[in-house]
Amino acid sequence: MILKEGSSRTRGRDAQGSNIAAAKAVANAVRTTLGPKGMDKMLVDTIGDVVITNDGVTILKEMDIEHPAAKMMVEVAKTQDDEVGDGTTTAVVVAGELLKRSEYLLEQDVHPTVIAHGYRMAAEKAQTILNDLAIDIKADDIKMLKKIAETAITGKGSEVAKEKLCELVVRAVTLVADEDGTVDTDYVKVEKKVGASVDESEMIEGMIIDKERVHPGMPKLVTDATILLLNAAVEFKKTEVDAEISITSPDQLQMFLEEEEKMIRNIVDKIIASGAKVIFCQKGIDDIAQHYLAKAGVMAVRRVKKSDMEKLARATGASVVSSIDAITSDELGKAGRVEEKKVSGEEMIFVTECDNPKAVSLIIRGGTEHVVDELERAIEDALRVVSVSVEDKKFVAGGGAPEIELSLRLRDYAATVGGRAQLAIEAFASALEIIPRTLAENAGLDPIDMLVELRAAHEKKGANSKYYGIDFSTGSTADMLKAGVVEPLRVKTQAVSSAAEAAVMILRIDDVIASSSRPGEGGPSPEEMAAMGGMGGMGGMGGMPPMM
Ligand code: ADP
Ligand code: MG
Repeated sequence: MILKEGSSRTRGRDAQGSNIAAAKAVANAVRTTLGPKGMDKMLVDTIGDVVITNDGVTILKEMDIEHPAAKMMVEVAKTQDDEVGDGTTTAVVVAGELLKRSEYLLEQDVHPTVIAHGYRMAAEKAQTILNDLAIDIKADDIKMLKKIAETAITGKGSEVAKEKLCELVVRAVTLVADEDGTVDTDYVKVEKKVGASVDESEMIEGMIIDKERVHPGMPKLVTDATILLLNAAVEFKKTEVDAEISITSPDQLQMFLEEEEKMIRNIVDKIIASGAKVIFCQKGIDDIAQHYLAKAGVMAVRRVKKSDMEKLARATGASVVSSIDAITSDELGKAGRVEEKKVSGEEMIFVTECDNPKAVSLIIRGGTEHVVDELERAIEDALRVVSVSVEDKKFVAGGGAPEIELSLRLRDYAATVGGRAQLAIEAFASALEIIPRTLAENAGLDPIDMLVELRAAHEKKGANSKYYGIDFSTGSTADMLKAGVVEPLRVKTQAVSSAAEAAVMILRIDDVIASSSRPGEGGPSPEEMAAMGGMGGMGGMGGMPPMM
């Protein structure tokens, strides 16, 4: 015995079996949500909060997963989400199927390292095949970009206003795209507001800040606004050390207060002298300062989030000034219109008519909290896939078409490899069929008939036969390019490679040693700590001022 008492150890086939079972369970958990006809899940957390979603990565993040191999599957979804923003369910389902197929090979006494080797070869070949299947897209091909956005949000509770939402998404991405073709979706701000119907969602060429003016005497509307972005408090500076001032007479007190006021006035004068008509301040603004600013007809907003400051800087061309002394007219930005408006009962500041809006906002409307939350996730997916397409300039057909084509071509490739690796490559090829199979199953179609039909269509070798996938409107096969079911190439390349990596990693484990007291048990684990720290970003809390 070299291990501490209470530690557990599983080895060999037992360890493999348990890991594979756990990974398969994760894949099964999200399988029914795949595709346009997939179902949703309702997740209830320990304090009773409800999330209703169809999004693979959201489901897995919300679930309390304990098994180490299952956690690796969650990582697959997270990687996919970080890299592409879509295809999370696909990646997890493929990884689960790869492991399921490997079980059969293990039973046939094919060694795990041989399977791992074959899977790696197949994954590499798959990249080449996918690149070969990909079609070029121009960054200004609005029509195709819209189709890509539509494919990403189908089945995510946005059917009613799909076209409208996708139009907004594509316009937003093309506006924030840089000349060199890179797109940072952080510059598209998604603001959700409950209370109106989805088709009242809109895009603002500029920024929306979920705040109000600090003082009612300030103007509600400033046109041709010169804007100051300030990351310093407009307040009387408190001493850093504890100091006691003893005041012995009323006159002294009066002088003290006047001096304080004078200092604040100085700051305000500096701001006004710079020519700023609107101030967005990341920190606080003192009552007296508010008063003077209002008197000078300046609109001021305080405790603006740092992320919003960055977007404002990009939208208006201002730079964020972090010291009162550094305020000059050079640092100011411009917007044609800054206005406080009411959106479903809450005041918001609209910064619009910017010359070259390199940051834009989407206001997502919907009937209830759960609806807008799911819409927001759908919109985030759509934003990401459109950006990825603009960046990579390549897309593929969807609806199971690439998986079937991959499967067929990998089988041909397997035959050229021979030996035991051939078995693994063939298993990999069959595993990919899980995507069209599941798409069919979730839509109530017969998966076997569908696979047979799809294979036949692809083997016909017509010009477009490789684009044949499942058409849900007819329940039969169709050219997915014509049907407008298209996805960025990166969704598929990433899903295949991360699924293969996870499967290989899990396969290669033959010894699981778990110590009895894991570091997480004494207090919150690092992940839990991170989750707590990240709470400020959660919906519903967005209105709270940042802590000073
Ligand atoms: P993921 O998390 O993997 O993106 P989804 O639930 O979004 O999972 O489903 C994506 C799959 O659904 C892709 O294979 C895509 O090609 C397919 N799909 C999406 N829209 C359609 C459609 N209208 N017709 C056929 N297949 C579609
Ligand atoms: Mg998707």
